[in-house]
Amino acid sequence: MNTEPHTTRILILDDDPFILKLLHRMLANMGFASVICCENGVEALKLLEDTATRPGLILLDLNMPGMDGIEFIRHLVGQKFTGNLILVSGEEERMLQTAEKLVQAHQIPILGYLQKPVQPDALRVLLMKLATTSAHNGQEKHQKIYSAGEIKAAIDSGELINYYQPKVKVATGAVVGVETLVRWRHPVDGMVYPGQFVHAAEQHGLIDHLTQAVIRQAFIQAGIWQKSGLELKVAVNVSMDNLTSLDFQDVVVKLAAEAGILPGKIVLEITESQLMGDIRISLEILARLRLKRFHLSIDDFGTGHSSLAQLRDIPFGELKIDQGFVHHASTNETLRAIYDASLALAKQLNIEAVAEGVEDREDWELLRQTGCDLAQGNFISRPMPAEALAGWMDQWHTRIRDESLITSNTDPA
Ligand code: C2E
Ligand code: MG
Ligand code: MG
Repeated sequence: MNTEPHTTRILILDDDPFILKLLHRMLANMGFASVICCENGVEALKLLEDTATRPGLILLDLNMPGMDGIEFIRHLVGQKFTGNLILVSGEEERMLQTAEKLVQAHQIPILGYLQKPVQPDALRVLLMKLATTSAHNGQEKHQKIYSAGEIKAAIDSGELINYYQPKVKVATGAVVGVETLVRWRHPVDGMVYPGQFVHAAEQHGLIDHLTQAVIRQAFIQAGIWQKSGLELKVAVNVSMDNLTSLDFQDVVVKLAAEAGILPGKIVLEITESQLMGDIRISLEILARLRLKRFHLSIDDFGTGHSSLAQLRDIPFGELKIDQGFVHHASTNETLRAIYDASLALAKQLNIEAVAEGVEDREDWELLRQTGCDLAQGNFISRPMPAEALAGWMDQWHTRIRDESLITSNTDPA
């Protein structure tokens, strides 16, 4: 472990004196010298008020008489606490997961949670994260908010560029497609991610403009890959806000024709981020695009407002299981149940299932065991510029062999 985090001031808040003693001893054994114990929230908040005693890390019990852990978290927000948090509790795991989500929603950095009785190894693993999170913290805060003018200028001047993330067949490792993910190469702020401007573009009425710019580039790129002999389906993200005017389908059809791409090579990934008003227009657009043989995919399945109703009403050929249900699903029962149910639904409806956010080997193995059709995620590859794809594919085929990612009698094809 890095030596620097050992100087972190740690506060343990728990109503049980025995737990306080135990955790104190564990931390001391791991080399943490500056540890304060508190038996109730009120006392702990006093320590937080004074910058001289403000801890960099709090180990927080959830179940306490008087002020409980959840209420204490609210006070932390009020105090603009910027240190790290570890939740400790004897409650069942789902309760801890809910509390963790709450902390994350308040944007307080959380290293994770520990179930009582606390195992020293579990604590050590979480503390290892201290070194990395303290290095990242500063950067993730202060996300800049861009104005309508800035976003429009970026689209018009070509500062938006497409990255592409591979989608691969789980059974064979074959690269069957890519998803287009827009990036803003900002001249001053560097690489800006869609989370920081797509929603703003929707709110400022710029989403049609943005989507057209992305689609135009993506279809041209699809044409280039097609000419070079690469058989790839190219997916683009479509916001429900794009589906409010009947012009949309004409634009998509026209751009595909101009690029010389058949609709069957294109996947439109539809996400619903807000409640829809009149769905008749979006249904009409999607039905007509499907009649023209474009593929429709339901993105972030399981989140949003009416995924099941959408599945009923729209002729989707692909279902993308949201990354929030994929990563760690092999060890987390709740995630696993949702993942299994989504996969079963796709199979029963006879549509292709894609697992998003496949981050590690455990995630990949789960997809293999459960027979998920396609996989996408950082374990396979991060999104990359178009030029990098061919080189990546060579490496990927080597990796499939060297790391035995597929059952060997199936050749990537
Ligand atoms: P999405 O369509 O669900 O895309 C997947 C997101 O997950 C991408 O984030 C991708 O970089 C990220 N990702 C991929 N693999 C992993 C992984 O293993 N772990 C984790 N934690 N994340 C992974 P990105 O590029 O930041 O895009 C975020 C969202 O922004 C997209 O989610 C999509 O909804 C939206 N978006 C991106 N490009 C466009 C666009 O051109 N138009 C519209 N309307 N929305 C877009
Ligand atoms: Mg998508
Ligand atoms: Mg998604």
